[in-house]
Amino acid sequence: MRIEVLTLFPEMFDSLKVGILGKAQEKGLFTLNTTNIRDYSLDKHKKVDDTPFGGGAGMVMTPQPLHDSINAVDKDHKCLRIYLSPKGETLSQNLVQKLAKEENLMFVCGNYEGIDQRIIDLDIDMELSIGDYVLTGGEMAAMVAINAVSRYIDGVLGNQESTSEESFSNGLLEYPQYTHPQVFEGMEVPEVLLSGNHQNIAKWRYEKQLEITKERRPDLLGDK
Ligand code: SAM
Repeated sequence: MRIEVLTLFPEMFDSLKVGILGKAQEKGLFTLNTTNIRDYSLDKHKKVDDTPFGGGAGMVMTPQPLHDSINAVDKDHKCLRIYLSPKGETLSQNLVQKLAKEENLMFVCGNYEGIDQRIIDLDIDMELSIGDYVLTGGEMAAMVAINAVSRYIDGVLGNQESTSEESFSNGLLEYPQYTHPQVFEGMEVPEVLLSGNHQNIAKWRYEKQLEITKERRPDLLGDK
């Protein structure tokens, strides 16, 4: 997979070069390229924002640097071009899995009051939100989406970190996890997990998944 990020703050994406995602990029499992939108500004002061027509607070990102950078990076429109926006479709595990099937993804990060609507109409394929709150810029939102999507690229997670038994994978939240020591601060690991009986362990885990999901996210079970 090739991931392109268009941003005014490329250095923020250095945090995706560490840990599991860093190793995956070293192995060539996906590539992450960042482009500074400001480099494409034709303004003599490299300006990328201006006041909104109609008045109102804040600044809006101007169309020219965005249009030129998007189309320079993705000349043949091979990327699914995603603009991060609180007005977009909310990211979910289902959507993450759908995005993970794409070969070329582009994330366009807005700042200030957002970007000129004509860029969304001309150059963007979908708008994506990471939740019902407003961030100062799209960078953190892009990082969240890239992190979640790249976990579904073949080979990124080792056998030990599978996506098949975690929260949302079967529509439920995950069961509680325990590791050594067997007793910590007087608290014991549930007996069944020490039994070696895989059927009983699977039953206990499933029951815990149902219990936790019912308590915390009844909406996932179709309950309101
Ligand atoms: N004026 C915009 C509005 O009310 O919808 C908010 C602009 S926000 C201050 C600046 C940028 O942050 C947006 O252009 C977008 O790229 C990003 N952003 C903010 N909240 C976001 C969210 N929940 N999901 C995705 N991107 C977000």
